[in-house]
Amino acid sequence: MRNVWQELSGLLLPVTCAGCGGPRVELCAACGAALDGGSARRVCPSPAPPGLPTVYAAAPYENAVRAVLLAHKERGALGLAGPLGRALAGCVRAVAGQPGGAAAVSVGAGLPSAAPLLLVPVPSARSATAARGHDPVRRIAVTAARELWRTGREARVLPVLRQRRAVADQSGLGARQRRVNLAGALELTAAGERLLRRGALRHDRVILVDDLLTTGSTLAEAARAVGGGHGTAPEPPARGGCRAVVVAASPSAFEINRN
Ligand SMILES: [Zn+2]
Repeated sequence: MRNVWQELSGLLLPVTCAGCGGPRVELCAACGAALDGGSARRVCPSPAPPGLPTVYAAAPYENAVRAVLLAHKERGALGLAGPLGRALAGCVRAVAGQPGGAAAVSVGAGLPSAAPLLLVPVPSARSATAARGHDPVRRIAVTAARELWRTGREARVLPVLRQRRAVADQSGLGARQRRVNLAGALELTAAGERLLRRGALRHDRVILVDDLLTTGSTLAEAARAVGGGHGTAPEPPARGGCRAVVVAASPSAFEINRN
């Protein structure tokens, strides 16, 4: 019902840019460039949580980029999934050329370009998805996969993670509190377990997808969970580290590149 109302109000209200409020377009050229205009860059929070995979981001989480992500996630501006997915696809291309995370053993110089990429969205809480009327991360993972296919890179979305238990709202928690809050919170779905047993969930092909990196604790937990099992201790990602992409990261997480 909520989405029907959003679509109706979209017909009745004047369209404005989700990034800057400018007239007539859902996303103006300048805000689109803020999102997807720079090249994807490696990001790392400081301190980095144990087991955090290699992460690439498209843009710092501030100003127009922040407004666009929130409009898509919380206000159901679903047309923004296209530009957000394109920004994410750029990060996937960049990270696919990089070796895996902490436990990488065999990938060396990155993936051969023919290997299909497995995009694994970080799941939202079911209650959050219900309240929003959509799953924003999964939606932008799908548009990113479509963009990758369009440009000749085979990629598929594998929604094989789910929340194992409820977690407290992360906002307002420090890095260590977030780690404790999230430890053991994610697990593989039954389908994901089957893929893991069959050897189809190849971690050198897995790219975790999230919208935002702040402390990195969510991605570290997701990397642990794609390794299977229910351990709650922070561990490096099992069996040849996966990698990760986010649309945006805290501005300070980009400082890794300034050394
Ligand atoms: Zn704008």
